[in-house]
Amino acid sequence: MKKLKASFPHLGSYHAPLEVFFTAGFGVDYIVPPPITKRTLEIGSRYSPDYVCAPFKYHLGNFIETIEAGANTLVQSSGVCRLGYYGELHEQILQDLGYKVHFVNLAKYKAPKPINFYNGFKEIKPDMSLTKIAQIFPVVLKMFEHIDEVEDFIRQNVGFESTIGSFDKVHADFLSDLRMIRKKKELNNTYRNYMKRFKEISVKKPNNPLRVGIIGEYYTIMEPFSNHYIEKELAQMGIIVDRWLNVSNTLLHYPKKEMKKHIEDYVKYPMGATSIPTIDRALDYAKKGYDGIIHVKSFGCTPEIDTIPVLQNISNDYKIPILYFSFDTQTSETGFTTRLEAFYDMIVMRKEAKK
Ligand code: SF4
Repeated sequence: MKKLKASFPHLGSYHAPLEVFFTAGFGVDYIVPPPITKRTLEIGSRYSPDYVCAPFKYHLGNFIETIEAGANTLVQSSGVCRLGYYGELHEQILQDLGYKVHFVNLAKYKAPKPINFYNGFKEIKPDMSLTKIAQIFPVVLKMFEHIDEVEDFIRQNVGFESTIGSFDKVHADFLSDLRMIRKKKELNNTYRNYMKRFKEISVKKPNNPLRVGIIGEYYTIMEPFSNHYIEKELAQMGIIVDRWLNVSNTLLHYPKKEMKKHIEDYVKYPMGATSIPTIDRALDYAKKGYDGIIHVKSFGCTPEIDTIPVLQNISNDYKIPILYFSFDTQTSETGFTTRLEAFYDMIVMRKEAKK
């Protein structure tokens, strides 16, 4: 029988916990998807419907590159928007292209009930051991949280590092070490040691640095290639970047009720996908006096398009500038940089004027 080599589409730094989950929980090989590049997007776009949102194209390109890297079992998640239909289409396109892979579409097991998790896991590996999965699951969940905590810290500080690249280097070591971890104690020690290392990195932060909050669509906000590495660009301008949206905040500790209450003066009904956190965070950044907000989304993302008039109301009420980026396969690097630089100049001038 062929050895199972599973994979899941790339998203930010989360390949480490996914690898641990598949290898220790299912006992299968995990093919870490190649990092997203221009080629990923080119392949994905070539075989995708033209008007589908960009995450579909990235996932498809990523699936093909992962098959080229040896994967024979592909897993696609469900989602609360069109993402929930993507698995079916991806599977069909890959079949039509002649790829012979086992495709597990978790959208079939959407309702978060234990029986659905069980059935979904069984489809990945029919003779899986529930005991092994139950043992590794809490470690994996904690790993997601630690990655998010570490990256929050980096966003607050990387723009002020004395030696360029210091945070990136420790971050890469951290992710690489996580891949070896199988026990919670090991994980806690590793996290503690790395937080110490991050805190020891020399930073020169001014007294009142610029602060920008990033809000927007799930994939585009979390996959740096798809947003032209916007967080890095902002950090290089000496800006503290705040981004609430990540896996632990949205999937593990989502304060949906509180958020809905918080934004009730602006919206009565949820508009799907990440619309609630987008509006909630914008309002929070506005109330806290951030210097600006950047809204990122994929071209054609309906839930995030619907949030824009609400964001404009928040911008008017709190006099906070919001820059809107809609990314697609054709987004020009020059256009992106020019708009970001103009936004930077504007928030610097506003800050100066307030002194
Ligand atoms: S949230 Fe928007 S961009 Fe993301 S998959 Fe859904 S519709 Fe597409």
